Amino acid sequence: MAHMTAEVLQKAAAGERLSAEEIESLYHLPVPQVAAVAHGLRMQRCDPQVVSFLIDRNINYTNICRVGCNFCAFYRTRRQSDAYTLDYEEISAKIRELEAVGGTRILMQGGVNPELPLEYYTGLLRHIKAHHPTIRIDAFSPEEVLFFEQHFGLTLDELLDALIAAGLDGLPGAGGEILVDEVRAKAAPARIRSHDWFRILDAAQRKGLYTISTMVFGFGETYRQRADHLVSIRTQQDKALREYGNGFSGFAMWSLQTENTRLHGKAPGATAHEYLQNLAISRLALDNQPNIQASWPAQGFKVAQAALYYGANDMGSTMLEENVVSAAGGHDRHSATVRELIRIIDDAGFTPAIRNSRFQVIEYPDVAAFLGRSAENIEGERGVGAAVPQAPA
Ligand code: SF4
Repeated sequence: MAHMTAEVLQKAAAGERLSAEEIESLYHLPVPQVAAVAHGLRMQRCDPQVVSFLIDRNINYTNICRVGCNFCAFYRTRRQSDAYTLDYEEISAKIRELEAVGGTRILMQGGVNPELPLEYYTGLLRHIKAHHPTIRIDAFSPEEVLFFEQHFGLTLDELLDALIAAGLDGLPGAGGEILVDEVRAKAAPARIRSHDWFRILDAAQRKGLYTISTMVFGFGETYRQRADHLVSIRTQQDKALREYGNGFSGFAMWSLQTENTRLHGKAPGATAHEYLQNLAISRLALDNQPNIQASWPAQGFKVAQAALYYGANDMGSTMLEENVVSAAGGHDRHSATVRELIRIIDDAGFTPAIRNSRFQVIEYPDVAAFLGRSAENIEGERGVGAAVPQAPA
């Protein structure tokens, strides 16, 4: 195995594609060796100086959900006292707060709520476009879309066309977790299965919508199942780029949070070390996805900052009002300020850049002004991140 993994690292460093078996073998190597190759690839495939982030807001329009995933601390049944569904004006008020800090997109998702008609969704999209024309709307997980199809009796094409006509810009790839049905069935018996997750994301990509790929690990899955998940995403990315010229814009990965959920004490989750290992391996496996995010909502700012040397080139987003991961994370961290993200990126030796949801840089913020330091000090302190470590022989 040791002989094989050394060869696998050399292959990855040379930019060659790894098989699922080879990806699995990386989990048996010392993490610093994998991280060195991951960081080298990140420096080659993305702007080596820049770490980007997005100013956005999460909006969870309802917490009523009939799926009831074992790992979810966010959802409520209709009769629970803190169940809610937001009306259009409540959502508009949240968007105005985002506009006030220069935000450009909302990530809007909710539970699977059987009480809402299709007109709630299409009307909401129209309302947002009419009142907030500069805000991009990335909304509805594949789980919600699958429910819409079945509940409203529409084909997937009909449904997506209706949502796009109303103003939908993107369909985030939430709920990817581990796209191996054996793992999904144990974690959440009623959860969307892999086939439907890929079917819905494929249709969204065909129609030109923004999408990202995701991974949540720590359910007790095997290394091979993690490798299979990464290969499945890579295969879909090949197809989407080849057939539609519109693949996943980025990859977001975090470890399972189980506080306040039925999986607490039953699923292992992951340590910081395992998170960084899985991140580095993802960079080696996903040779067709340049943008890989660090996850501060699940891992905290300090681990997210370290992730910039384990293959990540992006700090995600400000996520004003993150509710879902934080509900299961046992902490109250719901958002990051622009200053906080600038600080951890700058401190790690990179140039912070504000991007749009397609990972295109739209502005380089005035770091000195945000951090209250002189411009000379900023330049003098930076430069660490530009060093590309050598891949092991
Ligand atoms: S993860 Fe989503 S689908 Fe599952 S229970 Fe929570 S809100 Fe519902």
